[in-house]
Amino acid sequence: MAVIGFIGLGHMGGPMSANLVKAGNTVRGFDLSSDVLRSAAEHGVTAVDSAVDAVDGADAVITMLPGGKHLLECYDEILGSVSGGTLLVDSSTVDVADSRRAHELAARAGLDSVDAPVSGGTAGAEAGTLTFMVGGGEQAYRSAQEFLEPMARKVIHCGGAGNGQVTKMCNNLMLAASMLGVAEAFVLGEKLGLSHRALYDVASISTGQCWSLTTNCPVPGMVDTSRADHDYEPGFAAELMLKDLGLAVSAAERSGVDTEVGRLAANIYERFNSEGGGGYDFSAVIDSIRQRSAE
Ligand code: NAD
Repeated sequence: MAVIGFIGLGHMGGPMSANLVKAGNTVRGFDLSSDVLRSAAEHGVTAVDSAVDAVDGADAVITMLPGGKHLLECYDEILGSVSGGTLLVDSSTVDVADSRRAHELAARAGLDSVDAPVSGGTAGAEAGTLTFMVGGGEQAYRSAQEFLEPMARKVIHCGGAGNGQVTKMCNNLMLAASMLGVAEAFVLGEKLGLSHRALYDVASISTGQCWSLTTNCPVPGMVDTSRADHDYEPGFAAELMLKDLGLAVSAAERSGVDTEVGRLAANIYERFNSEGGGGYDFSAVIDSIRQRSAE
């Protein structure tokens, strides 16, 4: 079994590293937070004192950090200490430009790397059913599979360096747009005397059908997988949706693509976050639409 360095053991990295331990790997983990590090150690991770210690003797180094700035700082710190033949896997969600910069730094240090952001949230991290969207060369992708599989339902190669991040950003742009459409439709239906059940029963087998309706419906009582049926506990937190929309909108601006719906969605989630909604599932945005419609 492999030795894996794991840097960033928070809401996602904690359960992901625990699944790597369960699969029989030795995981050398580091996090800036001592509480987080202690909790990872309770799940069998070998807690070490620094990122440099985590990469010592590792076959692969997995990072699961808040953003691109943290990733690049971390790579600056560790790259001189990573031995040749070690694969670098970044599963954080970061800006495509930062991801490509991280790949360049790795290549300059003579190391193979993949970006491998995830979809599936904390529930998927705990259950080991994440979808990994992998960017990088064919050989690096093949090498990454062995390390990712204990945490994954699916590992999909999306193309070259940074394309995992591109895929994630595009998927979440679609997700935000569909959720906002579904939420607005339910509020409009409510105002005009339509029951949630009638709208759900028709739209779920009609052209309005989508994941935001049939798996994570923003009104409770329709489908038991919905976070609406669990007081809108995330799931996928609205603050993370805002982060991902910000990445999509800025990448679109840099590439000259007119993502008008994306900009609008980012503004709506910005407002929802400023109203205190950031810690709730992103489907809770329906409450904000409802309140504004009552004004
Ligand atoms: P988190 O804040 O819970 O965890 C990040 C951890 O990184 C923290 O414990 C923090 O102390 C640690 N950290 C920061 N800088 C560090 C450094 N230099 N060295 C070591 N540790 C450091 O965040 P999370 O929810 O686990 O998300 C991690 C990444 O996964 C983010 O990029 C996020 O966008 C992405 N993501 C999150 C979810 C989700 O549902 N939470 C879903 C998909 C993707």
